Amino acid sequence: MGFIQASRGTRDILPEEVATWQRIEAIAQAILTHSAYREIRTPIFEQTELFERGIGEATDVVGKEMYTFQDRGDRSITLRPEGTAGAVRAYIEHKLHAQGGVQRLWYTGPMFRYERPQAGRQRQFHQLGVEVLGSADPRADAEVIALAADILREVGIQGWTLSLNSVGTKADRQHYRDALVRYFEQYANDLDPDSQDRLHRNPLRILDSKDPKTQAIAKEAPSILDYLSDLSKTHFDRVQELLQRLDIPFVINPCLVRGLDYYTHTAFEFQLEELGAQSTVCGGGRYDGLVTELGGPDTPAIGWAIGLERLVMILQQQSETASTDIDIYCASRGVEAEAQALQVSRALQQAGLAVEVDLSGSAFGKQMKRADRSGAPLCLILGDEEAQNRTLQLKWLGSGEQEVLPQSALIERISDLKKKIILSKLAKRV
Ligand code: ATP
Ligand code: MG
Repeated sequence: MGFIQASRGTRDILPEEVATWQRIEAIAQAILTHSAYREIRTPIFEQTELFERGIGEATDVVGKEMYTFQDRGDRSITLRPEGTAGAVRAYIEHKLHAQGGVQRLWYTGPMFRYERPQAGRQRQFHQLGVEVLGSADPRADAEVIALAADILREVGIQGWTLSLNSVGTKADRQHYRDALVRYFEQYANDLDPDSQDRLHRNPLRILDSKDPKTQAIAKEAPSILDYLSDLSKTHFDRVQELLQRLDIPFVINPCLVRGLDYYTHTAFEFQLEELGAQSTVCGGGRYDGLVTELGGPDTPAIGWAIGLERLVMILQQQSETASTDIDIYCASRGVEAEAQALQVSRALQQAGLAVEVDLSGSAFGKQMKRADRSGAPLCLILGDEEAQNRTLQLKWLGSGEQEVLPQSALIERISDLKKKIILSKLAKRV
């Protein structure tokens, strides 16, 4: 019988790779916690209308990429394509605004978009994101951008480019939109089909078209920066000043508009050339209009999302190998010895050591080979003789040093063993 493969656009994250994921998650969590961000966990699926209203019907995400279905109760349900809409829904539903002040939230988890799978683009992928709700201050913009830079740095990613733009307010954009439509109308026949389609629906999106011919036309288009009101300009200037003072380099890119309708003022992306066509590892911006759009009180907000697969890809290109974390390998043979080995291993695990029990029942020679391959510094050996005498053998795999010990003495020796295990692991690393 044939076997069943994972669905197109989905991937298994195998144990070798999980270490990298856990490291990224741990670093992000530590940085975010130290900056007063609190984690929020929202459902994987929501009512379809949340995304239609929260992301905007004219966007690719809502128009072409959503996983939408009727459930058995005939409700329209959508697997979340991003995290902001759900976080904002929860913010409104649980009246987090009533707690007063600024809410700093973060989340991580799988997202779903029906896209053409390719390197760095999947149908199920993972994002880590932050949202700051309740502050219109440009310091919030600088804070979230700095956080993304810190996470990238701590994870070990260098050489990114931060592109920055302002899309102003809805009113600024109305004027700009008119000018843009007038400009692109002159070249309507030269635009790619998607952009022609957007000309009257969502002309700003033409600016970030990937089509070379359209890009050339877009380069000469009027710049949003010439259409910003004084207040929008002041905000944008202050964001730039603060980034400079935080030593975060950026380039201004007036074509950076992002795909989502609710963005206002600051828009930004962190790009990495090594990623090729899918070069954006983190995208975000201010979305002062979203909370009211979703039925909440007028609340300014800003956030970003990092695509974790793209982060992991980069780290793997920089060939990071995961080391094993086993402290002790436990070899045993014989019915009674195997039972005792299980008891002793469990006691060691409860005392905080990482123990792998060999379950093969094969000859000691084979078990010892596997012990060597496991990378554990210490091997514990229990055969018939040890079982009879309630002893065990400790063998240090680096030096070959060996001793016999009563099982009852093991727990007293724990702190001494732990020290020696740490030292042998360190010695192996140098
Ligand atoms: P792109 O232009 O690459 O499609 P986007 O504007 O759709 O990006 P956002 O909605 O801003 O992306 O999502 C933030 C980040 O999530 C992206 O910068 C990217 O790193 C990641 N991401 C988005 N879609 C996918 C996907 N289908 N597969 C893997 N990662 C993705
Ligand atoms: Mg996309």
